[in-house]
Amino acid sequence: MQVIPLTPRGYCYGVVDALTLAQRVAGDPNVPRPIHVLGMIVHNRHVVNELSRQGIVTVDGADRAELLERITGGTVIFTAHGISPQVKARARDRGLTCFDATCPDVTRTHEVIAERAARGVEIVYIGKKGHPEPEGAMGVAPGHVHLVETEADLQALHLPPGPVAVVTQTTLSQWDTQALIDACRRHFPEAEVFNEICLATQERQEAVATQAGAADLVLVVGDARSNNSNRLVQVAQEIAGRPAHRIDSVEDIRPEWLAGVQTVGVTSGSSTPTQLTKEVIDYLRSLPEDGGAPPPLERRAVVRLPGAGGRARA
Ligand code: SF4
Repeated sequence: MQVIPLTPRGYCYGVVDALTLAQRVAGDPNVPRPIHVLGMIVHNRHVVNELSRQGIVTVDGADRAELLERITGGTVIFTAHGISPQVKARARDRGLTCFDATCPDVTRTHEVIAERAARGVEIVYIGKKGHPEPEGAMGVAPGHVHLVETEADLQALHLPPGPVAVVTQTTLSQWDTQALIDACRRHFPEAEVFNEICLATQERQEAVATQAGAADLVLVVGDARSNNSNRLVQVAQEIAGRPAHRIDSVEDIRPEWLAGVQTVGVTSGSSTPTQLTKEVIDYLRSLPEDGGAPPPLERRAVVRLPGAGGRARA
């Protein structure tokens, strides 16, 4: 089987920093135990399992303010998706030792929101409902950040008179977001617009858009909850016009997808461990061209994470 590794793919710097921080905290005997992560540190269950093996407990659920109340002592790590100032303050008030793995790109979005909201600007935030990044961003200026995911949400929005700014989540599809930004501009012609889709997300989407056309099929390695992985599938299907599937690991590849396929493009979300993508590429390359029986799958149980030594901000 011919394989085209779509480049760039996989880990972004924000994820590498977050994982490095978590492992450094886990390896520091002076950090109070137990160590928790408030939500999935990045949206990948293999990563969460590996951190669990290192003694880090993930508390996961829809509302991080509520989740925080379940943590009764020790240390809490905030995830790369960013956290509201209220949750941060509450964690400190409760005497927890705090580490913040928020990606600098998300922090910049929070700063844009805080600065505009302080000047009386209402924020239209384009993002995905139920994802932690919008939850954190909305907490920056409670009541003044209005989440819209579709044009229907925008139509239903009734803002008080005054200035408006439009801000986006970092991991959206560039193409969908541009359509929604255009709709926002029609709705609020005076609005300042901040397209905050991060460079890592843009580069991975553009790689799929420009390189996947040469493949008969595209496989995106990533977790079901990873927004940027799901968006890569969408870009492969809608922009590159290729059949595409998201897979969690090599074990998810279905033989029927490969029938009549000669070339597979492979990419991965920014939270996907490199090892999982490599296993997919190696497996596909090992498939006989004559359609004979595939070799047995070999998955390593433990996923290696980027090493210790990154930044830490308490
Ligand atoms: Fe940061 Fe972008 Fe990576 Fe998210 S996808 S952690 S915003 S670099």
